[in-house]
Amino acid sequence: MRRRRFETRAIHEGQDPDPATGSVIPPIYQTSTFAQSAPGEHKGYEYARTSNPTRTALETCLASLEEGQYGLAFASGMAAITAVAYLLSPGDHVVLPDDVYGGTYRLFVRVLERYGIASTFVDMTDLTRVEAALTPKTRMVLTETPTNPYLKVVDIAAISELARARDALVVVDNTFASPYFQRPLPLGADIVAHSTTKYLGGHSDVVGGAVVMNSKEIYETLKFHQNSAGAVPSPFDCWLVLRGVRTLGIRMERHAGNAMTVAEFLRGHRAVARVYYPGLPEHPGHQIARKQMSGFGGMVSFTVRGGAKAARAVASSTEVFILGESLGGVEALLDHPASMTHASLAGSPLQVDEGLIRLSVGIEHADDLVDDLKQALAQVK
Ligand SMILES: *Cc1c(COP(=O)(O)O)cnc(C)c1O
Repeated sequence: MRRRRFETRAIHEGQDPDPATGSVIPPIYQTSTFAQSAPGEHKGYEYARTSNPTRTALETCLASLEEGQYGLAFASGMAAITAVAYLLSPGDHVVLPDDVYGGTYRLFVRVLERYGIASTFVDMTDLTRVEAALTPKTRMVLTETPTNPYLKVVDIAAISELARARDALVVVDNTFASPYFQRPLPLGADIVAHSTTKYLGGHSDVVGGAVVMNSKEIYETLKFHQNSAGAVPSPFDCWLVLRGVRTLGIRMERHAGNAMTVAEFLRGHRAVARVYYPGLPEHPGHQIARKQMSGFGGMVSFTVRGGAKAARAVASSTEVFILGESLGGVEALLDHPASMTHASLAGSPLQVDEGLIRLSVGIEHADDLVDDLKQALAQVK
């Protein structure tokens, strides 16, 4: 049978009707343990930390959407990235982007460094810098694209080639694009990581994470760590993510359409100094984005003329956009990175512009989003 398309797999992969009852939706197997017919004889499930059928459904579906062989779900995006870090040993070195997600930065600098794992942060849009950062001890290149909050675009195929030549694993945090718009494994990555809290869950009602890979060896190592460390998602949380995933395609289309409308509006506004959106032709990463993404996503950042004071005024004045951290839900969210998501970078070389605002453009009506930004920007004198 021919391979089904993405939208069909999102609804059906791992989600056959329940064999016991015919339930069309995979049940929430809210159990900690499973009955055995004789010691060691069971239907593939023994204890729910090790595996649970609701989690299996989610892991199977996510693997398919990322075009990978194996998926593993975790209790959060950070738990998923921590599992990936378990592939490293003391003495190993990792290269990451200089505007990597703050939680990943904190994990590598404030936790893993103590265990003898060194990291270097570089601007990954500049391949010569990535190459210069690779050392004989580099075992992993962990990247994100588009990045947060400047939405820089990293060339996944080029980075994968550089890393492969040095025997380093390539990990791509695909949270911002979602597998609907970008699939790093066919581009050469070894592992894809996600915060399913964001677009995959899509409704701001669950925290979760996942990794997908093709290597059986890596899968078995990470599965062993998943069971050993135990940062597993609850059956209900898996069910919520799976429910979100079924509408991923149509949500992402609307997020991206609205984001383009918003970016074009902001670009023409006198109170806006600069707009960052990979879908705009003048964005420095636009050509690479066109090559490796099938859409430009729902995140838009911009700087307000007048710096911190003006940005704070705009951030406090929206009525549809909710001021809050996180992203990827159906509702529009607005973030002032310098004082919220990226506050921990203050005073460091990675500090973000205080005039910057980051939008997670929701799937409300685009005109309401534009009207809201228009009235909020009118606060900038
Ligand atoms: C939110 C996020 C994470 C962390 O995920 P949690 O689910 O909050 O633990 C990692 N990477 C990116 C790009 C994120 O946006």
